[in-house]
Amino acid sequence: MKAVVYDQPRSISVRDVPDPVPGPGEVLVRIEMCGICGTDAHIHAGRFFSEYPLIPGHEPTGRVAAVGEAVTSVAVGQRVAVNGNTGCGGCGSCRDGYPLMCRNLRCLGVNGPGGFAELMLAPEANVFPADDLPVEVAVLAEPTACAMHGMEILRPAPGADVLVFGAGPTGLILAQLILHCGASRVTVAAPSVFKLDLARSFGIPVTIVADRADAAATAARARAIAPDGFDIVVDATGSAAVTEQAVPLAKDRGTVLVYGVTDPADRVALSPYDVYRRELTIKGSFAQVSSFPKALAMLRSGHVRTAGIITHRFPLDRFADALDALRHDPACHKAVVVPAA
Ligand SMILES: [Zn+2]
Ligand SMILES: [Zn+2]
Repeated sequence: MKAVVYDQPRSISVRDVPDPVPGPGEVLVRIEMCGICGTDAHIHAGRFFSEYPLIPGHEPTGRVAAVGEAVTSVAVGQRVAVNGNTGCGGCGSCRDGYPLMCRNLRCLGVNGPGGFAELMLAPEANVFPADDLPVEVAVLAEPTACAMHGMEILRPAPGADVLVFGAGPTGLILAQLILHCGASRVTVAAPSVFKLDLARSFGIPVTIVADRADAAATAARARAIAPDGFDIVVDATGSAAVTEQAVPLAKDRGTVLVYGVTDPADRVALSPYDVYRRELTIKGSFAQVSSFPKALAMLRSGHVRTAGIITHRFPLDRFADALDALRHDPACHKAVVVPAA
C-alpha cells in the first residue's frame, strides 16, 4: 500500500510499504479520508510524544477491508471511524481508571501507524460503525471526541457565559458542544472573518474579531460583551499568548480551559495573586480515549454541525502540501487527505 512515512521528524516520504494484515481482534480499514490538524504540525517537528518511523494520521475514517479472527462488531464494507487511542491497561494510571494518562498511551498516528495511508489496522474496540454518516462528517469523529472530552473536563454550570478563543475546527465543535450543554451564551473570538461566519452558521450567537497583534483591542471587544468577565474562557488556539490573554477575561470564580496544543517550551505570565484573589480555576483537556460514542451521538443528532468545515482535500502524495496549507494558507479551515484521490 501507499503511505506517508516519516523516518525521522521533518522528513516526509510517500512510498509503498507492506499491506498490514489483521491479527485476532483487529480490523483492517481502507482509509477513505483522514483529517489533518495542528497536532500533525507538532508531530512533523518531532514533538507530541511521536515515535519514528511513523505513518501519521490520527483522524481516520474508512471502510472495513478485512477483519481478524473473533471480530464480530463490524463487517467488511462497513464505514467506520477509528479511535486511535488506547491505554495499556497495566500502568498505575490505567489501574486508577484513567487510561488517558496511561504512561504507555498508544496513539495511532502519533506513536503507532495511523491513517495517512491506504490501509490501517485498529483493535476492534477502537472501531466505531458510521455507515449512517457521510464521510465528511465521520472524519470529524476524532476532533469531536476530543472536544467531547473537553466538555467532560469543563462540565459548564447551567447558564454559563462562555468565551472561546479560536475558530478552528475543534474550536467550533467545542463551542457548539458548550452551547448545547446548557450555556446561556457562547462567544467565539478569532482573527479570521470567514471562520467567524462559519461559527454563526453553526448557531454560535456572538462572534468577535480577535486581533493577534493587539491583545488590548481584543480584550476591549470581549469586555464590551461581558464587562465582569466570562464564567468560562477557553483557549482553543494553541497560542500561549492567547492563554495569557484568557485569564484576566475570566469572571471572579471563573474557569480557564487550556485546550489548544502549544509547544512544550512555551510559557505564560499570569498573576498568582489574581488566581488567588479571584478564586480562578485553570483546567487542561488532553485528547481522549473513551469519548467516541458520545461524539458520534452529537454528530448524528445534528447538534454539532460541520457543513463547510472541510476546505482543502489532498491525495496522499501531496501530504506535504496539506501540511503547508494547514500552517500557511489563511483560507484553510480543515484539510483532509483522501488516499483514493
Ligand atoms: Zn487532530
Ligand atoms: Zn497504562
